[in-house]
This record gives sequence, C-alpha cells and structure tokens, in this order.
Amino acid sequence: MSPRAFASADELDATALADAPVRYPRPSRLAEPLQVKPARAAEPAASLGLHTVGDLLEHLPRDTGEARTIAALVPGETATVLVEVRSITSRPVRRRGMKPLVEATVADASGVTKATFFNQPWLERKYRPGTRLMLQGSYQGRNRFRVSTHAVTSEVAAVEGAVAQYPATKGITSTEILSLVREHRDALADVVEPLPGRMRAREAHADRVAALTAEHFPHDAREAEGARRRLAFEELLLHQLTVLRRKARRSGGVGAGRLDESPTLTARWLAESLPFTLTGDQRDAIETISADLVQDRPMQRLLMGEVGSGKTVIALHAMLRAVEHGRQAALMAPTETLAEQHFATLATLMPGELVATALLTGSTPTARRADIVAKLASGELQLVVGTHALIEDAVEFDRLAVVVVDEQHRFGVRQRVALDAKAPAGLAPHVLHMTATPIPRTLALTAFGDLDVTALRELPAGRQPIATHVAAGERERSRAYERIREELRAGRQAFVVCPLVEESEALQARAATKEFERLAKTEFSAFRVVLLHGQMRPRAKQEAMAAFAAGGADVLVATSVIEVGIDVPNATVMLVEDADRYGISQLHQLRGRVGRGEHPSLCLLFGPKDSPRLRALAEHEDGFRLAEIDLELRGEGEIIGTRQHGATQFRVARLPEDAELLRAAHDHAERILRADPELSAPEHALLAPALQAAYGAEALEPIPA
Ligand code: ADP
Ligand code: MG
Repeated sequence: MSPRAFASADELDATALADAPVRYPRPSRLAEPLQVKPARAAEPAASLGLHTVGDLLEHLPRDTGEARTIAALVPGETATVLVEVRSITSRPVRRRGMKPLVEATVADASGVTKATFFNQPWLERKYRPGTRLMLQGSYQGRNRFRVSTHAVTSEVAAVEGAVAQYPATKGITSTEILSLVREHRDALADVVEPLPGRMRAREAHADRVAALTAEHFPHDAREAEGARRRLAFEELLLHQLTVLRRKARRSGGVGAGRLDESPTLTARWLAESLPFTLTGDQRDAIETISADLVQDRPMQRLLMGEVGSGKTVIALHAMLRAVEHGRQAALMAPTETLAEQHFATLATLMPGELVATALLTGSTPTARRADIVAKLASGELQLVVGTHALIEDAVEFDRLAVVVVDEQHRFGVRQRVALDAKAPAGLAPHVLHMTATPIPRTLALTAFGDLDVTALRELPAGRQPIATHVAAGERERSRAYERIREELRAGRQAFVVCPLVEESEALQARAATKEFERLAKTEFSAFRVVLLHGQMRPRAKQEAMAAFAAGGADVLVATSVIEVGIDVPNATVMLVEDADRYGISQLHQLRGRVGRGEHPSLCLLFGPKDSPRLRALAEHEDGFRLAEIDLELRGEGEIIGTRQHGATQFRVARLPEDAELLRAAHDHAERILRADPELSAPEHALLAPALQAAYGAEALEPIPA
C-alpha cells in the first residue's frame, strides 16, 4: 500500500513524497561550532567543554528553578522571567565602592516591573529599549525585581513553570547558558538514539531526544528527574558494556596455561604446616581461586577483605599452586614496608622454609639483587615478593604463572601492563588482586566491573573486638592517657597516631616528632616510646618497627604510615589525634592494627563527638558496613581504592542513589554481549558508535593485568 495524503484516501505520487516535510536527524549538525553570545563568554564556555552545539545539548542542568510571568511573581521568591526592556536609566548609589545602579522598566504580556542591576553600569547602554532579556533574580514585591543573572534572548513568549539551571563558571552564568540552549532547541532533533527500542520499552525509558528535551525544558522537577534517570541509565550501560567487553577481550586473548594437576605441595602445606585452621570464607576463596587457575583463561580476581581477615594465606595458596606445577609466582606490593610485611607473613605461614622465597625491593643490595634476578630468570627461584622492582625491565621470569597484586589501585595501568609482560611469550599470568578497602557491592560493579570479586567477611577465630570511643576535651584526654598507661602496665603496647597533614609530609613528620618528644617527657615518661614517620631513613624506620614488634618499645608514636604493614598482636590500644581529618576507611584500617592478639582492644578517636564519621566508627566494626556508610556520606566520587580508569565520576549517574539503574544496566550489558559480542546486530548499530564516542579506542582494548 502506498502512502496517502493526511486524512485522505488519495495516494501520494513520487513528487509529493519527495517534497514531504520529513525531517531526519542529522547528527553532523551537532558538530557545528557553538557561537557563544555574548562573545566574552566564549572562553568560559569552552572551559566548560562547550565547543559545539552537541556539547551544549549534553551540558545537563544541575537543577530546576521557577519561571514566572511578571504578573505571577510572588514577593520573596527567586525566579526567571522573560521580558522586553521598555526603558532603562542609571543612578548613583550612595554606598561607598558601589557602581551606579541600573534600573530598567521591563514587561511581558502579563505586566510590567522594575528590574535593578547592581554594579554593572555598562548595561544601561547595552540593554536598549526593545531588547529581550531573560532575567533571573528575586522579586522583592512592590514591582521591584532584583536581578542576579541575565542574558539576551530572542525568545518572545514568556516561560512558565520550571526552567533549567546549569552548571556555570566565572564569565558565563546559568542564565546565559539557558538562553543559549533555548536558541539551539531545534538542534535536539538531530540527536541520535543509541539504545535499542526493545530495551527502552522494557525499562520504560523515554527516547534520547525526549529525555534531553525534558532535561532542558522541564515542565517540573519530576519530569527533569525522570529524564536524568534515562540518561544515567544510558551512561551506566555504556560503562558496563565497555568494562565487560574489555574483560572479555583479556580472557578471550592469550591463555594463561592451566594449573590443573592435583594438589601435592599445597595439600601437604594445608594439612601439615599451616599454623591454624582456615575460616569458612578462606576455604571458599581458596576453592574459587583454584577453580580459576584450572582454566586456560587468565584469572582476574579481586580478593577483598579487611586488614587481618587473612588474605595472605589465600594469596600464598594460589602462589603455591603455581610452584607445584613447576611454575613461578610473584607478589607485588606498593611499598617496601608492605613488601617486607608480606615477606615476613609468608615465612610464618610456611614454617620450615617450605619453598625458598626472596624479597626484591629498591633497597635490596646489588649483589643480592643480581643473584635473585639470575635465579628468577633460570627458574631456580619460584617465589618472590617485592615492589615495583619486580616489573623493571631487567627482571625476567622463566615461567611466571601467578601474580598477586596488593592494593592494586596504587599501581598504574602501565605497571599492570608491564606485569602482564613478565609471563612467557604468548601467555598471560593468572592475577589475584588484593585490597583491604571493602567496596560496597554497587560500587564494585563500576569500580571493579572488570574483575571477579571474592570477599572475606568473616574474621579469623579468636579475633578480639575493638571497643572504639570518640573522645574530646582535656578531661577525657587525661583519662585516655591513664587508660593507656593501665594497658602498658599490664604489659601491652600502644599506638599514638598523629594528625594527618595533607599539605606536606615534612610538616606531618615534624608534628609527629614534637608529639613524640612531649609524650616521652610527660604522659609516658615511665615507658619506652619510639617514633615512626615517613621521612625517616628506611633503616631508622625498620629499627623503630622492629623494636616495637619485638616488645622493646611500649608506645609507638607515628604518622599514618602504620596504616598498613605492622602486625603486633600485643598492641591493644590506639589513640588517634584529630581523627576527623582521616576518612572512614583510613581510620578503620588504622584501628585494624590493634585487636590482632588474644587481648581485647581499644581505639580512642580524638575529635568532635558529633562527627558522623567518628560516630560510625564507634558504632560499627564491619568494614563493609562502614564502606556503605562512607559511600552514603561522601558519594561515589571520593571513595578510595577504586580503579583509576573510568571508575568513578559519572556525568549523569549518581551513586549510590542510582544503584538500581546500575544493576539493570549491568544485566542488559551482559545480555547484549552474550548475544552480540561485537555489537554488529542491526539493533546495536548505534550503540557501538556511542561507546566509541564515550570511551574512544580504549573501549576496545583488553584490560591489562
Ligand atoms: P590480611 O592480609 O588480610 O590483613 P593476613 O593474611 O596478614 O591478613 O592475616 C593476619 C594475621 O592473621 C596473620 O598473622 C595470619 O597468620 C593470621 N591468620 C590468618 N588466617 C587465620 C586463621 N584462619 N586463623 C587464625 N589466624 C589467622
Ligand atoms: Mg596481610
């Protein structure tokens, strides 16, 4: 059947069809450069990323404000009006330092009011009678409108209801952006819809043009929020598609070699030499990882567990699996202290030198280093612990099969690529990442969507609870010192953690030194006090730590360098100064340095009693719960421990509020990639370019290690 004319039975001929006012989107028009008015706002606009018409349409409002006709203005309210200048004058202001006041009589179809502009005398010449203006300001009543921001507009009709309010910057106001967006309203028709129609229908999401239109020209705040959610869903979907695709490309790329022989060494180790019984979580983790290692596709797993949850045992098990297959394993830590710590833990976990292990860091003496490097290259040495020193060019492995990376967020992409390259040509290593920062489930999907995640929630048996109190004021301070002395007299040990000084390590070191001197002379003069900070020479650091670990010192006064890497079961008290300068997860990690032995422990946080963060710590011991609270208090962008690449900071989506959308996006992404991994099906034709636009060439690269 051929098309017919509207409301008619007449068929249309070819000429009529060709002339039909059909409008196809022309996305190329969105790439046209944006002409910013006024011209002085062009540079500020560019600083907001507004170079093209498309950029402008993607510059989403942060909020909605009220738009009114003059007659509808209510005294005291802030609103936007669309008016025409009738007359304009300026008059001096008596207050010192103030420029002349500009007063304009402005009108719309509903009425007339007097608009006042402060400190901008030049407006008198600029806004001549007849000029149409968009004014945002407050209506003072009695026909006075005090203008805060303004822009010239070509719109004639007044707007009513809601108006978009935009993120602005010095040199360009939200009202000026609003005016620009309204001038370019027609360009919305050129916006392309990347989402398949079936998916949109299923999720009840508007199409992209409708969503952008509702964002920029909302009838009310609810409509704007619905539109935001639609765009957030798209953003999260593109993100999940990218992450899952990159993950698939790694596992679909080079193989890792299966570690599928029956356990020999590991079986003996678990049965005979491990000095304790594994927790249920640890057993599950070991099983999961063993199953990963049997595959040819390289393991990409994140082991998440609080300090003291027993991750090292699991890491060692994975490494010993490599060793019993005649292959090599390496554990890489971000700092020397941590590497040394791991090295020591491994020794206690393998009594009697089950497997020869070496430590390779920047301070390994040259001769020793040469020996280790030679033995790694020959395969004679099967287990190594170290820092970045492990991925230097000169270090070659004979048959590296398993790599454990501790606190991986402290390594860059290039370092992970270098690590990958240490495996024999044509193979990738199985990689186990470890982190002591528990990440809430929702965030794990965005931050670590490229990793499989295993969590250790259960703490090893016999772990002592840590009573945490927030303390303030001099009375509580002296009580705290007395309480610490009680512990010391009972033979226990204590940490005093000095305030975090973000600006400079040197300042922080100096403050710690002062506090150390004070405490050694006063509160703890009867005890042995040692100092530890990041600016000390490695040798002095080692000595202080060794003294404290061996019980040769009672009190360790330290900066946050002790956050990781100290295991002294006899330490039962920690005092943290200016605790509210630290983040929740940092404090939680810090306090994990006590409660590691057989004695009940205590953590005293000095800081404001009403601080929600300190209160959370006093109330909760579960790191995962604390991480969720942290997320609620701070929002997603600032949670540490997330993978750098594209991990956080969504433009539209907000976490944790949009967690539902994220889960839906994740499920859709999985489904799409399962059916159409290359996104070549017709319904995905527009999804692929959207991915390319959002993530560039990176979207197609396999994930490094
Ligand atoms: P993490 O690396 O997660 O901070 P570690 O693996 O270093 O934790 O373990 C912390 C301490 O607890 C170590 O001294 C370790 O030997 C001990 N440990 C680990 N698992 C258990 C367990 N199941 N039972 C008793 N002690 C354990
Ligand atoms: Mg450890």
